[in-house]
Amino acid sequence: MSDWSNKLLKWYEANKRDLPWRGIDDPYKIWLSEVILQQTRVNQGWDYYNRFTEKYPTVSKLAAAAEHDILKLWQGLGYYSRARNMHHAAKEIVTKHKGKFPTEHESIRALKGVGDYTAAAIASIAYKLPYAVVDGNVFRVYSRVLGISTPIDSTEGKKKIWEAAAELLPKTNPGTYNQAVMELGALCCTPKNPNCPECPIQIACYAFAHNMVDKLPVKQGKTKVRNRHLNYIVISNGNKLLLHERKGNDIWKGLNDFPCIETEKETSPEKLLKTKEWKALFSTDKLIIESVSGPVKHILSHQRLYAQFIKVKTSTPVKTIPADCLWVEKKNLKKYAVPRLIEQYISSHL
Ligand code: SF4
Repeated sequence: MSDWSNKLLKWYEANKRDLPWRGIDDPYKIWLSEVILQQTRVNQGWDYYNRFTEKYPTVSKLAAAAEHDILKLWQGLGYYSRARNMHHAAKEIVTKHKGKFPTEHESIRALKGVGDYTAAAIASIAYKLPYAVVDGNVFRVYSRVLGISTPIDSTEGKKKIWEAAAELLPKTNPGTYNQAVMELGALCCTPKNPNCPECPIQIACYAFAHNMVDKLPVKQGKTKVRNRHLNYIVISNGNKLLLHERKGNDIWKGLNDFPCIETEKETSPEKLLKTKEWKALFSTDKLIIESVSGPVKHILSHQRLYAQFIKVKTSTPVKTIPADCLWVEKKNLKKYAVPRLIEQYISSHL
């Protein structure tokens, strides 16, 4: 092990944050923590981790849960496909691996939704297998320490860093070393204003020696963001509200929102009322617009959503409701998994 690896490990022991998933070797809990932390910051992830491990303490319990309940617990984290994939993988573990978490890297990597990063984290932390973990923090640390100026969001840049990480990984306690590099990136070698004076590996750092700390890592370009205009129709019938279940391969699959008409650009509710989409949704023209709120801007990783909420009332009961919709008593709304955008609307308007 190189001299600077030793310094890094000593720094880690003295400075690591005390987190609930530290020091454990349960692969299921390590997996859970890694997937949650891909979604969120540590403070917020902590609560989710505790709630998940309390409700589903084992992989078998997660496998046996209803998808709806898992999505409800995941609510607010975003990237709901990751929760669905975890559920799918938990079922795979029960059926294919007799409920025992696989112990080899290849079998872990083969689980649904488990990529190189998560497989390496589980294999190295739970089983001490020599697989380097490379996340956003590690990309930044190695790009600076090794002076790699190939963009870290290019195929070539990623390959270089993965190769360097594999080469530098010590054979003993690779899991601890992996966590030490990630922790250095999170606490010391931060994107802005890294704390170089206190850095344990400053002496080995190319960027520091060449005054390039603020120039590395290099990124080649921003991901294209798509704008979408969602017009939600919020309709109630006495103490019931019409919810829509999202299916298909769009965002928020498996969650609930309201019946929606998507338009190319912002539009007025009056114009919407006359569209064939509206008529197809509600085979009645007895809907009266009560109030309109929005547009509310909601940012996802590759999409910018502009949502307006059109609250309507009926002069006659709605007999036929749109496909994939259901009436839900307002007092039961909390039982349904909804995206944060909808949750915020419900809590402030209903
Ligand atoms: S010296 Fe600065 S730039 Fe280099 S690894 Fe340490 S914190 Fe990061």
